[in-house]
Amino acid sequence: MEHDHVRATDPAVAEALVGEAERQRNTLSMIASENHASRAVVDAQGSALTNKYAEGYPGERYYAGCAYADAVEELAVERARELWGADHVNVQPHSGTQANMAVYLAVLDPGDRILSLELEHGGHLSHGHPANFAGQLYEVDHYRVDPETGYLDYEGLAERADAFDPDAIVSGFSAYPRQVDWERIDAVADAVDAYHVADIAHITGLVAAGVHPSPVGVADFVTGSTHKTIRAGRGGIVMCGEEHADAVDDAVFPGVQGGPLMHNVAGKAVGFGEALDPEFEEYAEQVVANARALGDRLADHGLSLVSGGTDTHLVLVDLRDSHPDLSGGDAEDALAATGIVLNGNTVPGETRSPFDPSGIRAGTAALTTRGFDEAATREVADLIARVLDAPEDGTVRDDVSDRVDELCAAHPLYE
Ligand SMILES: *Cc1c(COP(=O)(O)O)cnc(C)c1O
Repeated sequence: MEHDHVRATDPAVAEALVGEAERQRNTLSMIASENHASRAVVDAQGSALTNKYAEGYPGERYYAGCAYADAVEELAVERARELWGADHVNVQPHSGTQANMAVYLAVLDPGDRILSLELEHGGHLSHGHPANFAGQLYEVDHYRVDPETGYLDYEGLAERADAFDPDAIVSGFSAYPRQVDWERIDAVADAVDAYHVADIAHITGLVAAGVHPSPVGVADFVTGSTHKTIRAGRGGIVMCGEEHADAVDDAVFPGVQGGPLMHNVAGKAVGFGEALDPEFEEYAEQVVANARALGDRLADHGLSLVSGGTDTHLVLVDLRDSHPDLSGGDAEDALAATGIVLNGNTVPGETRSPFDPSGIRAGTAALTTRGFDEAATREVADLIARVLDAPEDGTVRDDVSDRVDELCAAHPLYE
């Protein structure tokens, strides 16, 4: 990441770009939604395709000169279909939020009803939060996780669905560490004659690798982002059966977007190609093994995990039992000062606020990309526990920070 061309013409921006690459190299990214895309993906995203207008779809564009745009989009679609086993794939959404927006536009009318998981329980803004378009255009109600167990309350979901009579049920989450029973949610959607939209933004890579059950072929629509556990660069994706293909394509363009970001579609093609390599399955298995190692070790240090553990790439720690005076925001700040980068997060039964919540969320997708195994991940858990036990202690911070530097050096990135 030398950014020679930017450096030659724009030192101010170059300084920030080089600084960011250095920051990623020298810190441990444990934000559960982040990962490190390969240099090949980053290269494709930084290509001349950023210049190309390609409104429409391969073979039916509104502009001339789309031969190469068609080629990368066809590759991205073909590879995605193979990865997730979907009948129809649209790779143009600019992000996961745009993917959801397109699905809603495809099958809902303003005023229709969406039933989704409450944000504080692990849902996502685009599932109907009042600050998001979805909360403003549609009538929204929520289901929850069981506050005692931290597992999805499937019975509560069925009851809410009966009472609310939704037009769509959204499943798939931002901060849920357990496997999702897609069939069970789909049965509820069928029973109330609602569409089932499964948003696998976080677990796209785990689903592609077969280490988490797939909603493809179960839910009516599957949406996702392409930059989280699947390392294909920023973007979104929609998958569905042939019967919804035209509605989805029309909803993505011209419904919610103009020209596709063809450089990002190229990144998706490269990233999906990488994920088709058998090595990716090992990667995804290691991501989950590392998350389990992280959770087990944090629990050994007396920390409470929501649901008691994880089946995925992330753990959610409820700090209220072990560290009642430490908020998630303060924990985030103290850890960031040592080079461990994660986020404060709401927990089920939140008693603080979304801006300064009671939990922290930590993921292993990015560390695993750098080659972390369970032993190295356990050490990171030890470091996290040390900081949480003495968040203001300068000596602890210095010690942990030194060890983070060594762990980063032992697991090089972009070299
Ligand atoms: C991350 C995420 C998205 C997509 O977010 P974008 O930032 O718009 O790509 C959508 N749904 C869920 C559940 C997510 O966690």
